[in-house]
Amino acid sequence: MIICTAYGGRMEEKPLKIETKCIQAGYTPQNGEPRVLPIYQNTTWKYGSTEAMGKLFDLEESGYFYTRLANPTNDAVAGKIAALEGGVAGMLTSSGQAACFYSIFNICSAGDHFVCSSTVYGGTFNLYGVTMKKMGIDVTFVDPDASEEELQAAVQPNTKAFFGETIANPALVVLDIEKWAKVAHVNKVPLIIDNTFATPVNCRPFEWGADIVVHSTTKYMDGHAVATGGAIVDSGNFDWEASGKFPGLTTPDASYHGITYTEKFGKAAYITKATAQVMRDLGSIPSPHNAFLLNLGLETLPLRMRQHCANAQAVAEYLKNHPKVSWINYCGLPGDKYYDLGKKYLPDGSCGVISFGVKGGREAAVTFMDSLKMAAIVTHVADARTSVLHPASHTHRQLNDEELKAAGVTPDLIRLSVGIEHAEDIIADLEQALAQVK
Ligand SMILES: *Cc1c(COP(=O)(O)O)cnc(C)c1O
Repeated sequence: MIICTAYGGRMEEKPLKIETKCIQAGYTPQNGEPRVLPIYQNTTWKYGSTEAMGKLFDLEESGYFYTRLANPTNDAVAGKIAALEGGVAGMLTSSGQAACFYSIFNICSAGDHFVCSSTVYGGTFNLYGVTMKKMGIDVTFVDPDASEEELQAAVQPNTKAFFGETIANPALVVLDIEKWAKVAHVNKVPLIIDNTFATPVNCRPFEWGADIVVHSTTKYMDGHAVATGGAIVDSGNFDWEASGKFPGLTTPDASYHGITYTEKFGKAAYITKATAQVMRDLGSIPSPHNAFLLNLGLETLPLRMRQHCANAQAVAEYLKNHPKVSWINYCGLPGDKYYDLGKKYLPDGSCGVISFGVKGGREAAVTFMDSLKMAAIVTHVADARTSVLHPASHTHRQLNDEELKAAGVTPDLIRLSVGIEHAEDIIADLEQALAQVK
């Protein structure tokens, strides 16, 4: 099986800029090989002897044998994302949900606990607060703005990780990653960051002390709303052996011929275990064709992020001054609660997502949304097309009022995902829809 390290071949020689990595990283063809990443649309590989195949199963030799465990197209794209984040190894999953699940399940089992920001994406909130609790893995949700003392107070003897989002979906809270990393590390557990909204173009959480990064690649990375997917990247920086808290990584795995991941794979221990054990058993792999589409999206990610951010800034400034808008969250606006954290962690821009309320509450929000002509109501966010969603009646429908409040979602909150059309056309559409609100 192949563990895909981020910097294959000549990529190792000097650090490249992110625009270059988006084009060049992950796949370096040799003489006579396709210039563009090919789609290995096959499940299996042929070997000449029983022994040759056996060594692959023992993780003694590197090689492909079954797409659930490794596939060259998927690996190249995972390698590119690892390079973008500045990590040592990465893996793709079939969705962001699977990435969030695996990132915790790889180091927590029944009886363990982790600490999570209360403003995480609604799907993650349900996964952690309901479904994983049924597996015996407990979570404490804390305010993302909690002080070090408050974060520490959430820690238990069985706590194995901290989890938060760089920019929370849809509350747009900017996480103080350094603070969270500090408290996690005092307790000898890793900080896992969901970097979906910022993307590595605008923030690289490893530079601020995070240990593992996850993504829903469904959003900006794909960018065209064509392929659901996720990714996990390991910084290679966390010391799994120091605390004795991670026996799954530091003691022999009976299900893999007694391999000890930290001994055999060093900095790639976490991703190797996630692939060789969790993915082997749970199987949320992306189709190689989807990985190919994701790769096309990644090639233009820096260009698109720049346009998303410039458009969102213009739209946010327009909405802020509109008499029918009651409030607006966008960390690029001076005076926003997260303006300073945004300047620190997202100096080149945050993302294209804005949340705001229209005067008149839920009813006005619905009138506004139903009056839009170009921006579409979709259960999606962060792609090329401008779109809107009403979280209280869509993504966060399962949450009760108290949970909604903790998630930073008010009944009138409209999540506007600003696309890469011309800003003037986007604003014109908002303007005519706001005019319909009485
Ligand atoms: C969408 C999203 C997810 C879930 O990803 P899917 O690809 O839809 O499974 C997780 N985290 C964040 C921040 C998201 O926006």
